[in-house]
Amino acid sequence: MRRSYFISKILENTDFTDNHWLWTGYISEGYGKLWDPARREMRYVHILSHLFFIGDIPEGFQVDHDCRIRHCFRPECLEAVTQGENIRRQFEAKFGHRVIDGVKTCKKGHQLTGFNAIPKTRGKYKWFDCRKCHNRNALERYHGRIEEW
Ligand SMILES: [Zn+2]
Ligand SMILES: [Zn+2]
Repeated sequence: MRRSYFISKILENTDFTDNHWLWTGYISEGYGKLWDPARREMRYVHILSHLFFIGDIPEGFQVDHDCRIRHCFRPECLEAVTQGENIRRQFEAKFGHRVIDGVKTCKKGHQLTGFNAIPKTRGKYKWFDCRKCHNRNALERYHGRIEEW
């Protein structure tokens, strides 16, 4: 779907309140939906909003409504996460870091500080990749498996 198409549909089908953008078009199970002519399928408006206004939705994440209003699609009301511990675990699984006593480490336990921390961003998410693991993975593609560092 083109951004300009989405915006034209928003202008026709939205009740902008002070705190929310409420979809007035087609609603299914409480969620706003919009026909995507390119994909030839109905798509969730809040997901389109995230894709167009915030960024990609990392694999394993869902777009959740902070405001609990399902047909709202205001970017500030949306979060591509699940709540609580679940968020942290998914984030760690996806991006490979964890926090031990305030020190971030990769899955192998390398500290994600200084030169070893490669800054990454995707949409509004920021995290660090481990340079040792990154380099090892790159080498392994040429030399086969390398012993633990
Ligand atoms: Zn809202
Ligand atoms: Zn590492």
